[in-house]
This record gives sequence, C-alpha cells and structure tokens, in this order.
Amino acid sequence: MEFRSFLIKYAEIGVKGKNKYIFEDALVKQINIALKKDVGQFKVYREVGRIYVDVFDDYDDDDVIQALKKVFGIVGICPLVKIEDNGWEELKEQVISYMRQVYGNKELTFKVNARRARKNYEKTSVEINMDMGEAILDAFPRYSVDVHHPEVLLNIEIRNHINIYSETIPGLGGMPTGTAGKAMLLLSGGIDSPVAGYMIARRGVQLEAVYFHAPPYTSERAKQKVLDLAKVIASYAGPIKINVVNFADVQVYIYENCPHEELTIIMKRVMYKIAEHFARERGCLGLVTGESIGQVSSQTMESLAVINNVCTMPVYRPVAAFDKQDIIDIAVRIGTYDISIQPFEDCCTTFVAKHPVTKPTLKAIEKSEKKLEGIDELIREAIENTEVITVQ
Ligand code: ATP
Ligand code: MG
Repeated sequence: MEFRSFLIKYAEIGVKGKNKYIFEDALVKQINIALKKDVGQFKVYREVGRIYVDVFDDYDDDDVIQALKKVFGIVGICPLVKIEDNGWEELKEQVISYMRQVYGNKELTFKVNARRARKNYEKTSVEINMDMGEAILDAFPRYSVDVHHPEVLLNIEIRNHINIYSETIPGLGGMPTGTAGKAMLLLSGGIDSPVAGYMIARRGVQLEAVYFHAPPYTSERAKQKVLDLAKVIASYAGPIKINVVNFADVQVYIYENCPHEELTIIMKRVMYKIAEHFARERGCLGLVTGESIGQVSSQTMESLAVINNVCTMPVYRPVAAFDKQDIIDIAVRIGTYDISIQPFEDCCTTFVAKHPVTKPTLKAIEKSEKKLEGIDELIREAIENTEVITVQ
C-alpha cells in the first residue's frame, strides 16, 4: 500500500497553552529539516491540533518514515489514506480496499473507531462503527470483531476530507530540538558520552561539544572517531559545533608536576574548567558528560564531587545511574556503538596512573593544584588554539 500522508502523534504532557505552540512550531520546523535531506516534494502542516505530512510524486514512503523516526518529539507516525467525502458507499469501498491492501485476508481481530470533526455527516460515530464493522466482516470472513483488545484498531476520521489509518510506527519521543536551551557536551571517543549527548538532546536541548585532543599522544584517527560520533548525534540533534582543544601541553605539565594517583582527577578538573569557559562564551546553560557512578576510579561519588567542584554550571550526567550494558544497548540502538569500539585511544587512556585515588578530598587535590603555577597560561593557550569544526 502506498501512503501519501502521515499523521504525526506527539505527547502533549506538559505542553499546554502558549507552550503548546512553541512545541508544535519547533516540531514542524524539525520535520521540515529532516525531510529536506531527501528528494521530493512534501508539505508539513497543522490542522486543529494535529500535525500532518503530505508527500508527493517521487517520495518513497520508507524514506519518509525513516526520516521521521529520527525526529525528537514524535511519539508515533501513522501512515494515512486521505480521501474525499463522496458518500457512504464509496467510503465503504475505500475502507475495504484499505484493509485488503494492508492486512489481506488473514485471520485478525479488529475494531472500528470513528470520529467526526464535522457533525453534519450522514451517520453518527456509533453508526459508522457498527455499519463499517459489518461491511468489513462481510468482505473478510476470517476477520472478527474484538472491541476490548483488537489487533487492528481502524480509525476513520470524518473531517473536510476523510482519514483512514490503523498503524502507528513508534517515534523517538522526547522534545523537539530547539525547545530547551543549549548545553556543552564533553565528547570523547568512548561509549558513554555520545549516549549522554543523545539523551540530553532528546529533551530538546541543542548541543555544542568539546573534545580534548592530545597529539602526538593521540592520533588523528582518534579525532576522526569523535567527529564521526558527533555526526551520528547530529543526525538526530541537528548540526553540532565541536571545539577541538589541543590538550597535550596541559596534560604533560600535569603529568610531570602532580602525584600520579591524582592525575585523572586533576586532568578532569581542567577539562571541566575549559569546557565551562566555552559553555559560557557560547551561551550554554550546562555541561553534559558520560560519567556513570562507580564505573571507574574517577567516577566514584567522592571523585565526581571533587571534579564537579571546579565549575559552577549545572553538569548533566544522564547515564549516571545506568549500568554499562544499559548504556551499550542505547549506543547500539542509536548507531554510535560500532564507532565507539574502534580501537583509537583518547587522551584519558594515554596518561593513566597505576593506582588512582578513589576517594580524593578537595583539600588534597587543591593542595596539589597550588603547585601547578604554569597551568593557567597553558589553559589560556589551549583555549586560544582551539579548532572549531561543525558537523551536520
Ligand atoms: P566515555 O565512554 O564517554 O569515554 P568513560 O567511561 O571512558 O566515558 P572517562 O574517560 O573517565 O569515562 O570520561 C568521563 C567523561 O569525561 C566522558 O564521558 C566524557 O564526557 C568526558 N571526557 C573524557 N575524555 C574526554 C576527552 N578526551 N574529550 C572530551 N571529553 C572527555
Ligand atoms: Mg573514555
């Protein structure tokens, strides 16, 4: 069956009144952006609290559905047959033809769910349900009616035209991109931070990213891996600006001037500091990291508390409460996993201590940091030499 129209379902919890329009406008805009990538003519429009997508001539339904399945804010996509109102007899024929094409003659239970937006139609909703149910039963002897748990809920909506639909393809949910503020993602080549970025973006947050690169200790391919990951996130979240910070001098300096067991904690604090600098400069309202409680020594609650203390911005850690396997499952689903497991090390794995502290105290760390007299100058240079790359 070929569909030329799609009804877009979105959750309305929390989007009432004026906010509802902001939400719907943003969703329409994001659908337009998602479909523009393909070839073909289409129209996205709102009609009495609904969003529809009509496609014309050269569009492929599957391409449309694939594109809509990457738009945050959509909970369901209903392929729709839209017909003119040419009277009851013709409607019956159209509905039977629809059922034949979509389900064929197999055994199934169904229920007709009619709704009238136009009260002058020749039958009431109850009459449509009964009479259409009967017509379908006559046409398909293997179908039966189940009003409580039907396998197929056949919707017939009487508007200026008539909509027929029965299938809902699940969407990503969340909120449309651009309905929340902007956040700065600390993006590494690992499994966790791309998932963290995706999760925050799914709430409507626009992302910018910072990646700490340490050539020659980390390779160009490690950097390319991060850009590839950002590209996958951008396919959902829209274009992402990545600030590639050359972190090598800072890292070597810390390595040479700090107790090694404190290395990771101090390095992370400098990363946060630099990330916060860019976040403020770009109007971001928070940082995002892929930290998960207890995963490694720098992610114990004691370590996270000490790291977090260098910045005043909110730090969002959407995977903090997730087991590694839960994070992997999402990474696989969103398409970042295969890139993340490529074996190019990033800077955190190059400079590691054999016995890192797991319960650092702020006092001890700050004491060690006092000895890093040259660090501010190195941080300033790193910020100045940052390369900005935008991925689409
Ligand atoms: P990931 O899988 O995201 O790399 P991880 O479990 O390896 O995380 P760490 O290496 O301790 O954990 O890093 C914790 C977080 O710090 C990362 O999730 C990421 O947000 C940030 N981070 C680590 N290394 C970098 C880097 N080179 N550039 C930018 N952010 C980084
Ligand atoms: Mg990592």
